[in-house]
Amino acid sequence: MPTTREWKNWTGNQSCIADVYTPTSLTELQTAVTNAATGSRRIRPAGTGYSWTPLIPLPSGNSIIETSGLNRLLGIRSTGSGPTERHFVKVEAGMKMSELIAITHGNGLTLRSPTLFPWPSIAGAISTGSHGVGKSGGCFSDSITELQIVDATGAVRTVSEGDAEMPAAKVALGSLGMIYSIELEVSKEFNVYVDKRNIAVDRTLAEFDDLIASYEYVEMFWMPGADTFYFLLMDPSEAHADEWSFQRKAEEWLNTQVQSRAANVWVPWIAKNAPSLTPVLTKLAGGTVTEVEKEIIPASDAFHFQDAYSKNWDIAYSIPATHASQAWSEAIDLVAAYAAVGKYPINYALHGRFVGPGDGYIAPNYDRHSLYIEATTAIGTPGFQAFFDELESRWAAIPGARPHWGKHFSRYGDLPTMYPKMNDFKAVRQAWDPNRHFLNPWLENDVFALP
Ligand SMILES: Cc1cc2nc3c(=O)[nH]c(=O)nc-3n(C[C@H](O)[C@H](O)[C@H](O)COP(=O)(O)OP(=O)(O)OC[C@H]3O[C@@H](n4cnc5c(N)ncnc54)[C@H](O)[C@@H]3O)c2cc1C
Repeated sequence: MPTTREWKNWTGNQSCIADVYTPTSLTELQTAVTNAATGSRRIRPAGTGYSWTPLIPLPSGNSIIETSGLNRLLGIRSTGSGPTERHFVKVEAGMKMSELIAITHGNGLTLRSPTLFPWPSIAGAISTGSHGVGKSGGCFSDSITELQIVDATGAVRTVSEGDAEMPAAKVALGSLGMIYSIELEVSKEFNVYVDKRNIAVDRTLAEFDDLIASYEYVEMFWMPGADTFYFLLMDPSEAHADEWSFQRKAEEWLNTQVQSRAANVWVPWIAKNAPSLTPVLTKLAGGTVTEVEKEIIPASDAFHFQDAYSKNWDIAYSIPATHASQAWSEAIDLVAAYAAVGKYPINYALHGRFVGPGDGYIAPNYDRHSLYIEATTAIGTPGFQAFFDELESRWAAIPGARPHWGKHFSRYGDLPTMYPKMNDFKAVRQAWDPNRHFLNPWLENDVFALP
């Protein structure tokens, strides 16, 4: 039986009153869907609620089906041998990324392009086209080999690798049905050579193409006002992982504690009470990462180096990698223009990750190598929305720009041109869910612009 209660996302900017179901098995999930999909009533699937956009809220009287009770490992298998060897892991939709990382790591395996963030559900991460880093890995959903989805009639549909519906199903914003299980192709665990270094902004912008051609994994940060980028330049390595000394482990722990305190306490306080001190703070934060460091570590550690997260506002776009310089220049120039008049709407690092092409119809990396670039700022920072709007209009004007579905964006009218396969997606969606049970007003009106 559902509970009628308030549903809220993590940052608290999305909420509604809904009949909330929390099934713990496939049968309970099917029952929940058939109970909820009566007449013209609507259902929204909910993972852990880490998206900022209105993907989930509905008018009261409708239903949310949460997946926190569906978090089991369903199997690990391998096929082939030598060059044809492949490895797969199958889980229920609500398993958290951190749990799956622990499972794969414990079995000598590594996920492809998992989110840096450890807490989203697996179904939530794939449904929004979420990503990690890597030019041959695509986004996280590009490693899906099978999905089991409960449609509005309660039937379980299986979509497998190579099926015509896979490009629509792998990133679907929860609009086809409730994903019950996901099978992902994973890699054998490998080590990564990580070269951490600062490179001047001017040099980077001039030599971007060489830089991204030279490494498999390119991740970069820019602290507002800095004249260098901080890079993590990474490649797979055959060498043994470095042993971390006790001192190194202690330093890492201390770093996390300081970053967490800075991000959760100092930055929001300064943003609200003394915004003119923001440049001092960002300079101090930049100063903590000036050393050049090289190390060999397991891929799982290289892709999950951040433990501390604070509630923030986030805007992110996928930009063709060929336009990476322009995307960064637009952001850096805008931050400088605001600073010149004493405004500091951005107080965390801007972040960029290069991700290979994928085939999800509405995946932000559809059919091209992309830079996912994001700006984040502490909740409570004055003037952030005006800055985001201006930044978005600059990024959206870059040919091929596409918003991240889970993060702030508002240029709904541009979506049909930004996503060239939007109509193909809508055709599959209509066939799966003709009565629109899996749409909320935002998806129906703003995203899919349905009559
Ligand atoms: C601090 C922070 C860091 C982040 N880091 C990254 C990052 O490194 N990379 C990145 O790309 N993104 C990142 N994100 C964004 C995040 O990965 C996405 O917003 C993701 O969708 C969140 O997963 P969730 O389980 O919270 O999904 P929710 O927000 O609950 O839902 C997202 C979408 O998935 C659908 N959905 C959920 N479960 C199901 C299901 N069982 N069946 C069908 N549809 C379903 C929902 O209907 C909704 O449309 C970050 C977000 C935060 C807050």
